[in-house]
Amino acid sequence: MTDRKIVLITGASSGIGAATARRLAADGHHVVLGARRVDRLAALAQEIRDAGGTVDHHELDVTDVDSVRAFVALAADAHGRIDVLVNNAGVMPLSRLDALRVDEWNQMIDVNLRGTLHGIAAVLPHMRTQGSGHVVNVASTSGHRVDPTAAVYCATKFAVRALSEGLRQESQDIRVTVISPGFTHSELADHGGDPDVRAAVQAATKQLAIPASAVADAIGYAIGQPVNVDVSEIIVRPTAQG
Ligand code: NDP
Repeated sequence: MTDRKIVLITGASSGIGAATARRLAADGHHVVLGARRVDRLAALAQEIRDAGGTVDHHELDVTDVDSVRAFVALAADAHGRIDVLVNNAGVMPLSRLDALRVDEWNQMIDVNLRGTLHGIAAVLPHMRTQGSGHVVNVASTSGHRVDPTAAVYCATKFAVRALSEGLRQESQDIRVTVISPGFTHSELADHGGDPDVRAAVQAATKQLAIPASAVADAIGYAIGQPVNVDVSEIIVRPTAQG
């Protein structure tokens, strides 16, 4: 590792975000962890330090633009630059549209879509001033196809892919990468949504899912490329996923 980057990761308290923090810290990058569960972040930060890595962690709610701005400002003040933002935080409470679980629709829009935009808004001024940077947005295979019970979740992930492409087209000096995982072991299917749908997703995850480290490896690959190489999207999913 020769190129040590300052990497901010949202949703770093579990699953793909935590695995990404471990992988990037092991690669020699300085990782800045954000999520709401600060106790989980503190434990992960200690684990990373014990393994020889360098890390900060801060409470973060990506639905609150001021929280995201403060998270980015703390990192910029401490390190003088922001090299990479991994917009990873996400929620997936699935249900049929006619169940009218409107609060959960709004939660998915607020975390998955607005949260990603808040991250972009907070880092872009720094990256434009630096004349370099890298935004990694975690979308999904659900950003490529729609399935029953997943309409709103898919809509947010299609939107993440769309805004990533727009950002890429507008950026000559900032790299933009979409990471689209399929079924991955994490806590994503443990919260909210229709209980029957949740049980079905948990069963499919148990049977099929790849480890979160496989997705982290894809993120590590994209970040590790030379600055003139933009890895625009990586889809990483179980071989047996239909
Ligand atoms: P997890 O539930 O394990 O992790 C989700 C993370 O998002 C947690 O760290 C959680 O932290 C954080 N988060 C949720 N709400 C907020 C918020 N308001 N502010 C800040 N952080 C928040 O799931 P995954 O690791 O699977 O999810 C990571 C990403 O991967 C998501 O974008 C998800 O959509 C995507 N993905 C996952 C797939 C899978 O099969 N697992 C497949 C395709 C995509 P906290 O609660 O502490 O705030």
